[in-house]
Amino acid sequence: MTGSKIPGDDRFFYLCALWQNLAVASLSEKIKQKAFAIGFHKIGIVRAVPLKEEETHLRAWLAENYHGEMRWIEREPEKRADPNLLFPAAKSVIVVALNYFTAHDHEENAAQGKVSRYAWGDDYHDVLKEKLRELLAFIKSENETAEGKIYVDTAPVMDKVWAARAGLGWIGKHSNLITKEYGSWVFLGEILLNLELEYETEIVPDHCGTCTACLDACPTGAIVEPFVVDSRKCLSYVTIELRAPDFPENIVKDLNGWLYGCDICQDVCPWNRFEKPTEEKRFEPRAGNVTADLDEILSLSPEKYAEKFRRSAMKRTKLAGLQRNARALKKSRQK
Ligand code: SF4
Repeated sequence: MTGSKIPGDDRFFYLCALWQNLAVASLSEKIKQKAFAIGFHKIGIVRAVPLKEEETHLRAWLAENYHGEMRWIEREPEKRADPNLLFPAAKSVIVVALNYFTAHDHEENAAQGKVSRYAWGDDYHDVLKEKLRELLAFIKSENETAEGKIYVDTAPVMDKVWAARAGLGWIGKHSNLITKEYGSWVFLGEILLNLELEYETEIVPDHCGTCTACLDACPTGAIVEPFVVDSRKCLSYVTIELRAPDFPENIVKDLNGWLYGCDICQDVCPWNRFEKPTEEKRFEPRAGNVTADLDEILSLSPEKYAEKFRRSAMKRTKLAGLQRNARALKKSRQK
């Protein structure tokens, strides 16, 4: 359409809309540039409209009781799917990913237990929240009407589904998000924002193809079918989330040396050959956090435990849970 064919009033509104679109696109681009400058490795922005059951499969998963004792997941499932129930002003969801891979490996040592890679360094909640706060402050400095909420596993936000929607990667058959650039070694975080932004138009299609490496490698068969994990069998769930004082007897033989969490399905994933070390120094392992000495864990007092795991994601099990795991791991090696 040429300018001369637009009547006067229409031309005004056309120019206003054009200016508004340019401003939205410009702010979106600035947010992305700032996110990279802060250290995030990937970012995508999508409209804050509810997730669909065919995206989340949440109700079907809950119906099978695959969440085990994580009863908090079954509370308010509608809140998990609808960002407006968390933050009624939400118009946009900004999803970020932070690579946490560091170039270290577990030691195979009968006196030690393996710790999941995500818990080697400082607690990712603290690291991501700090970065997201900086990003939100930047957005507010660019637009004084901006209001937002930050989420890093702190509210019922289905981060992997939002990340897939925002084009950061796809959800693999092991149910973790996989990025083409960093594999699955990424932490996810979100900002719900009250502003309209420019939205991603492309998602990353499933690149698992015919691969079944993660299903084949899982020692407990926890990936009961592609994309579906039965938490009750998952070593990560059993060693971190399960609060039972006694370790499940049927899992002990399958521990494969894991004390806290498990990375087997991610270690075997061919997409993790694209792993690259992160620049975030806070994810470098703390002493004794890659493989932990079992006798030391068993001898920790509550005070020593609090001191050793201050600001570490490993404190989630609490001392009793960690010592329960250490005892189970020792038992698994006696068989
Ligand atoms: S191991 Fe294979 S099937 Fe499993 S998530 Fe990776 S690519 Fe997908």
